[in-house]
Amino acid sequence: MATMIPLRHARRVALSTFLASLIVLGCSLTVFAADLFKGNEAIPSDAIVIFDGKDLSQWVRNGTDQTPKWIIKDGYMQVRGGSIQTKQEFSSYQLHVEFWLPLMADMKGQDRANSGIFMNDAYEVQVLDSYGIEPEAHRCGAIYSITAPTVNASRPPEQWQSFDMLFYAPKFDDKGSKTANARISMMQNGVWIHNDVEIPNPTACHKCPEKATGHIIVQDHGNPIRYRNIWIRPLAADYVTLAQPTAGK
Ligand code: MG
Repeated sequence: MATMIPLRHARRVALSTFLASLIVLGCSLTVFAADLFKGNEAIPSDAIVIFDGKDLSQWVRNGTDQTPKWIIKDGYMQVRGGSIQTKQEFSSYQLHVEFWLPLMADMKGQDRANSGIFMNDAYEVQVLDSYGIEPEAHRCGAIYSITAPTVNASRPPEQWQSFDMLFYAPKFDDKGSKTANARISMMQNGVWIHNDVEIPNPTACHKCPEKATGHIIVQDHGNPIRYRNIWIRPLAADYVTLAQPTAGK
């Protein structure tokens, strides 16, 4: 009998804990689901909309605190007067961007509708008219100069296209030494073009310093590229770095 009381007590505690866990789990799932989409919204409710088609209030000219000169029209912004960057810095995040490329039929290569999206001030995902040509590390969707997209998912110019990225910032120890490279997974127009790709260094200046946080920059490369519907969902800074499978090993 002496052992029955603690056993009964233990069972009661275990049952209470189990029920409490179910309630907490149920509440958290309910809250999460209800909060993320209340109806037919296209954008998750926990996203930060950094361009809603109306103004550039969340942007400045790159490297300054000045108001950008980009054109705002019909819900989009169009490159004019220098690259722009977010006022806010971010670390790791999901990012959605839509872009529209003009047909520049007389131009070739890097002169044909060039722009780009930079993560953490350092890593450019190339925006370029690359329709119908082989994927390459300087063409649309590439981690510029580092990694080509696995397939060419570009649509023809003069159509809206999209990038959806999952970007993880590099990590540093207490002394500032890098302990993990930046990483990115990415879709273009709903097609996976990068799967957890490591970004070992900045894309333009390979030896430039890297940071745990930074701005998103949209590049003015002298061509009238349009952007719309840009939103971001910051992720928890801590994450598990998955081992990269190595072919043949
Ligand atoms: Mg570019």
